[in-house]
Amino acid sequence: MEQIYFDHSATTPLDPRVVEAMLPLYGDNFGNPSSLHWAGQNAKQAVDEGRRQVAELFHAQPDEIVFTASGTESDNMALVGVASLYLPQDCHIITSSFEHPAILETCKYLERLGYAVSYLPVTPEGIVDPESLVQALRPKTRLVSIMAANNVVGTLQPIAELAQITKAHGALFHTDAVQAVGKIPLHVDALPIDFLSLSAHKLHGPKGIGALYIRQGVKIEPLVHGGGQERGIRSATENVAAIAGLGKAAEIAGAEMSAEASRLVQLRDRIIAEVSEKIPNAYLIGHRYKRLPGHICLGFAGQEGEAIHLMLALNEAGIAISTGSACSAHHAGQPSYILTAMGFDPIRARGSLRITLGRFNTDAEVDTFLDVLPGLVGELHSVTSRSFAVA
Ligand code: PLP
Repeated sequence: MEQIYFDHSATTPLDPRVVEAMLPLYGDNFGNPSSLHWAGQNAKQAVDEGRRQVAELFHAQPDEIVFTASGTESDNMALVGVASLYLPQDCHIITSSFEHPAILETCKYLERLGYAVSYLPVTPEGIVDPESLVQALRPKTRLVSIMAANNVVGTLQPIAELAQITKAHGALFHTDAVQAVGKIPLHVDALPIDFLSLSAHKLHGPKGIGALYIRQGVKIEPLVHGGGQERGIRSATENVAAIAGLGKAAEIAGAEMSAEASRLVQLRDRIIAEVSEKIPNAYLIGHRYKRLPGHICLGFAGQEGEAIHLMLALNEAGIAISTGSACSAHHAGQPSYILTAMGFDPIRARGSLRITLGRFNTDAEVDTFLDVLPGLVGELHSVTSRSFAVA
């Protein structure tokens, strides 16, 4: 059976060019970058090159990039790293109510320590309204953290405007750009942001490596203490091969971004148009245009609670997508906090399908998906009506 992967927001396949860049670091180039001998210096060169490549993607300076083990760690580093500079009663943080758990759970942790956190609402189209930020600012607001693109509905946030409002207030601005990096331009010479989180496995790089951009001159308290690597901000012997992989992934994403974005927008819009034509109860979730190039989030009116079954039926047909609600079958049918934040009622918030396209997807795969989906939704429909009739 043909296997089709349409779940690139969960993770992406490694680009073979990334694997090629990593292989020498699992062979002859094995040194510890902190060692002063030839082996160490060869490894250090690989780390320096990776840092340069990542910095270039954002128009940043190499020494503004700190490598971490994940997007989650980068998010924790920014939030806890800033909060730790203040006493809890002197620090107010603002975020949105539909951030990734890497932000929301970290904020809950900070609240348990006594910090004040405000959660901005989002519009029904999945956008944070800058006016809500203006209303939420307080004299002790130290940090605002708003994602660049939402991981479930794919909507792009007005981070330039949000960052400007934040800077005018004298606070720091962080963006969780894990879903946006490599897909849309994010240039720190044009955006007044202080921190940006990214994760390599979302841009055809390896898992277990991320980075935090920290603007020159901005201070944070380290979370991991030790040998002083990464300028003392994140101690630990560097994951050299993964850094080389992230660097290569960033370089490829930067070089191919505009052509790839147009290709994905075309595939995305074809899916949206044909689904709405062929499946009358389908609706698009999130803003029609302010969304990531390859990202589609669909609801099926009257069948929201069946999203998990639709996902499993597509999987049977070899097509990997995900439900936009809680990500495991154990939580099927529970309302999604993302959709609830967007004002969906508990019935409509029970499920959605997230279809996220990537570099190696083809027109032919989209054809197959569009052939298969209407039939599966139709079958669900009859199952749902039957169960209603019995009940
Ligand atoms: N932030 C967002 C918006 C994400 O989508 C993800 C992963 O899905 C993360 C953070 C966490 O990244 P990682 O898997 O590298 O920890």
